[in-house]
Amino acid sequence: MRRPHLRLVCVALVALLTGACGPAPPGVYREQLFAFGTLIDISLYGVEPQAARAAIAAVDALFQRQNRDWHAWQKGELDSLNQAIATGGTFQPDASILRLIGLAQRFERLSQGLFNPAIGHLLNLWGFQKDEPGPAPPDPTAVEHWLRAAPSTLQLRVDNGRVSSSNRAVKLDFGGFAKGYSVASAVELLTRRGIGNLIVNAGGDLCLRGRHGDRPWRIGIRSPDGKGVLASVDLEGAACVFTSGDYERYFVYQGKRYTHILDPRTGEPARGVHSVTVIADEAALADAAATALFVAGTPQWREIARNMSVREVLLMDADGGAHVTATLKPLLHFERPPAAIETVDLEGPTRH
Ligand code: ADP
Ligand code: MG
Repeated sequence: MRRPHLRLVCVALVALLTGACGPAPPGVYREQLFAFGTLIDISLYGVEPQAARAAIAAVDALFQRQNRDWHAWQKGELDSLNQAIATGGTFQPDASILRLIGLAQRFERLSQGLFNPAIGHLLNLWGFQKDEPGPAPPDPTAVEHWLRAAPSTLQLRVDNGRVSSSNRAVKLDFGGFAKGYSVASAVELLTRRGIGNLIVNAGGDLCLRGRHGDRPWRIGIRSPDGKGVLASVDLEGAACVFTSGDYERYFVYQGKRYTHILDPRTGEPARGVHSVTVIADEAALADAAATALFVAGTPQWREIARNMSVREVLLMDADGGAHVTATLKPLLHFERPPAAIETVDLEGPTRH
């Protein structure tokens, strides 16, 4: 099994880099963009301001194009494909959507269907495609109908670049991993311009390269209560850190919280987990795995993590307990000690 070739190191704390934008530390050129409904913070180390500005402008143009092409709920390439699927037709999307379909199928298979980007109609039933989700759970018969239709990305066929589906109930929504793919493409663009020390941070989900001068980058993992930093980790080389949380998008109905990550087995929002953070070298995989492990919950997340070949995982359960893999544990500095910490050896036998 392939291990992420990230190099993780523990060193003295120097600075903390989180989703929030503070003043740029010396040597760092920092700029913010807005795309995918989120603030994107780019930090480049040791780059001339003029070159940095030009590189970030190119990233901005890339993000805006991807945002338009991959949007499941606004007119664009993906919407045209979804309409063709709904009417039993075929559509030839651009190459990036074909790549996203390939990744979606891979992640659905590896997660045993817990990660399912064909879930668009179910998201619509729950109102999670709207700026303001909810306000109430959908009619249970509509959810049952969706469960019976059982849409899956594995029902898609790609023939000479033309896409069709054997199931019209498929509606693609790449919200669970497109941000990861997009951050990776930005890192690639910056690397091609000779920039080797950087962070592309999309609302707390990020990829980094190289180091911050003579020390690693310090990364903050957001607290599941949405307030401040839960833990930090020092990373250098090549790594991506992605978190899925129940605090990101949700609505409250009759005192109960309904979060935007849906369990394709029940048709309902996943329960029992506050947040999952995955560190891996492939951004789209880290993003998809964080969502998939959130759906899996305890104790099944271990099996899914093994299947998806992710090794560095921090899962915060609904009772405030931390479940952390043995490889990640020594690298984490908890800012606030969790109620309990379980260390999980993914290499060893599963203990329930
Ligand atoms: P965020 O994008 O808020 O950082 P995630 O990466 O966890 O969080 O993605 C959540 C998004 O993934 C949802 O808004 C929805 O578009 C999509 N999604 C929800 N449930 C699933 C699922 N079971 N499989 C695949 N995608 C999902
Ligand atoms: Mg995700």
